[in-house]
Amino acid sequence: MQRASPAGTAAAAAAVAYLALGAPPALAAATPDDITVGGAALHLEFEPRAFGDGGDAVRAWIRRSANIVAGYYGRFPTARLTVQVLAEAGDGVHGGKSFANPDGFIRVQVGREVTEAQLLADWVLVHEMTHLALPDTGEAHAWLSEGLATYVEGVARVQAGNRSEADVWAEEIRQMPHGLPQPDDRGLDHTHTWGRTYWGGAMFCLLADVEIRKRSHNRFGLQDALRAVARESGGLAADWPIERVLRTGDGAVGTTTLEDLYAQMKDRPVTPDLMRLWQELGIEPEGSSVRLSDHAPLVEVRRAIMQAP
Ligand SMILES: [Zn+2]
Repeated sequence: MQRASPAGTAAAAAAVAYLALGAPPALAAATPDDITVGGAALHLEFEPRAFGDGGDAVRAWIRRSANIVAGYYGRFPTARLTVQVLAEAGDGVHGGKSFANPDGFIRVQVGREVTEAQLLADWVLVHEMTHLALPDTGEAHAWLSEGLATYVEGVARVQAGNRSEADVWAEEIRQMPHGLPQPDDRGLDHTHTWGRTYWGGAMFCLLADVEIRKRSHNRFGLQDALRAVARESGGLAADWPIERVLRTGDGAVGTTTLEDLYAQMKDRPVTPDLMRLWQELGIEPEGSSVRLSDHAPLVEVRRAIMQAP
């Protein structure tokens, strides 16, 4: 889900949401709920009685999502986070948005009939929490924040045992071609389509991850670069130029991969041979899924990407 730039306070943002929903403020009766995950204090704002089980599954989902993100980054990206759950009609998880004011604030819309299976399979909250780990680099670089959230969500969930590796690669094979440049493309910084923003950004991340691991002989990956950026910036509350983000990430892994890729892709259409890359990683499409091979030149890189450090 696209995160809005932090405009105003969390309270003001919440008030706007109520107006938009045209509903009475559900939080008036909300029970405060606080948990600690990965070194972070999480404050839950929701109405437990809106859910059939008294909110237990929603609580577990928030804790699980925070643990997945804390696992990927080595600790949760912000010291404090408020998660506001707005219960809506229906089932499933409907969407979310992240803010930094300067503490993290995530608003998610969840159906009252949401099932435990839907919460187990949810990507929205991990995606939103991933946004908290990257400084704000401005609207022109939304492809970096959305691409990272898209890419990291899959990898982080595999590392935590919440999603299968084959499922993530199958989704990338299905979706990442949407991130390739179309005929009128002017590079990632100047082409703000959905495909280029989410999947063009995710493609940048995959290319960077593979390249960092190749250049460092698998000592480091994109994950190490992102951990350094999160640690040194403090995350979404910081305003950093994109060059500083990439330089900081590169510095942590001893390469210039992120800066090089950005120089190539920022204002020019670049069309990498994705199918060949997946073949080298030992990933073969098979129907709507994939078969993972142990015999391909970059098998060790693929394993390293999906293995928790
Ligand atoms: Zn997003």
